[in-house]
Amino acid sequence: MKTRALVLFSGGQDSTTCLAWALKRYQHVETIGFDYGQRHLVEMECRQTILKSFKESFPEWKEKLGNDHVLDLSILSEVSDTALTASREIEFQANGLPNTFVPARNLLFFTFAATVAYRRDLQVLVGGMCETDYSGYPDCRDDTLKALQVALNLGMDQRMVLETPLMWLNKSETWDLAVQIGGKTLLEIIRKETHTCYKGERTTLHPWGYGCGDCPACELRQKGYESAEIAKQS
Ligand code: ZN
Repeated sequence: MKTRALVLFSGGQDSTTCLAWALKRYQHVETIGFDYGQRHLVEMECRQTILKSFKESFPEWKEKLGNDHVLDLSILSEVSDTALTASREIEFQANGLPNTFVPARNLLFFTFAATVAYRRDLQVLVGGMCETDYSGYPDCRDDTLKALQVALNLGMDQRMVLETPLMWLNKSETWDLAVQIGGKTLLEIIRKETHTCYKGERTTLHPWGYGCGDCPACELRQKGYESAEIAKQS
């Protein structure tokens, strides 16, 4: 039985939804975050706020939440020059990928997560990658992550499972999943405390949360919220 999970938790909408999903499903859940010189440390701060809110709002989750691991991956900013880590405008490159792309970032994240999971005896790795609102990141693809699961298990002689509960959901369905898991309480935590905006903007609270409202991440988040069932009901 696989009862112990490690969630790749960035403080964004997707990974926060995944954390709730894991807390509903597994007996013991730990979290891991990567500090890689993001342009805005907003996300890293949001993580702590969200963990605190989860414990306060869901007593049954408080029991299950274990260690929060934060790994310093500042080396990523040395090996890549992208809009997320450097002070550059977000634009699209000739290959169609936004310059926010850190090549193979998710392979690195899952590999580091697996080494921590091995040490902590955690059998499930959970990530918020998604093919549906495909922004061109090849390391978010289901096949990429299935191949990585095989490689990690062979390389460590383990039977770990990589779970990606959002893989085939669109952004609206991700909002609705949160409501199914934790009702309005979880919805409000995700709306107000998670961060997705590429520009790190957190001054104006929109119905869908904080953000600049015009970067690709905000646009996706807003569109998803507006067509979600929960938004139609309110
Ligand atoms: Zn934005």
